[in-house]
Amino acid sequence: MADVLLLNADAQPASYLPLSIINWKEAIKYIYHDKCDVLEWYDDWMVRSPSWETKVPAVIMMRDYIRQKSEVRFSKSNLYLRDMYTCLYCEEEFSKNELTMDHVVPLSRGGKTEWTNIVTACNPCNGKKGNRNNWKPKYKPYRPGYYELVRKRRMLPITIKHPSWQKWIDPESTIEWK
Ligand SMILES: [Zn+2]
Repeated sequence: MADVLLLNADAQPASYLPLSIINWKEAIKYIYHDKCDVLEWYDDWMVRSPSWETKVPAVIMMRDYIRQKSEVRFSKSNLYLRDMYTCLYCEEEFSKNELTMDHVVPLSRGGKTEWTNIVTACNPCNGKKGNRNNWKPKYKPYRPGYYELVRKRRMLPITIKHPSWQKWIDPESTIEWK
């Protein structure tokens, strides 16, 4: 469970890949060690231990700037983002659980698990393709840049848990409630 929006010292979300949302326990640790300022609290959410009680923060901002890694890690969610949740074979858009990672050159034919050999594929296409290696994806898979993925992430809905988050997240982002 993650409930606290973590802002960097520049008041931007510490990351969009994924959006930096942390567990309240971790947030309270940062507060206890004086590493952040609390910008917003949940109004009606208290947590207690035998020796203390506190409200749970909704937004915290780090006092020291956390350096961004500009290298994009290979992961399923970053891959789907690069391909904008589109199957690179039938070119239809899908939701996350209808998608798979497809090795363009199959593992069984020596293909590697890396950015330049993996594309987003829907379940049916991946099944039909099987071990063939003569299927051409819509474009050649590549390693995406950090800012490319951030730009794409901002085009997709962001789920928020507290209304105050809205003003800290890029105003061009689409906001969804959960
Ligand atoms: Zn497909």
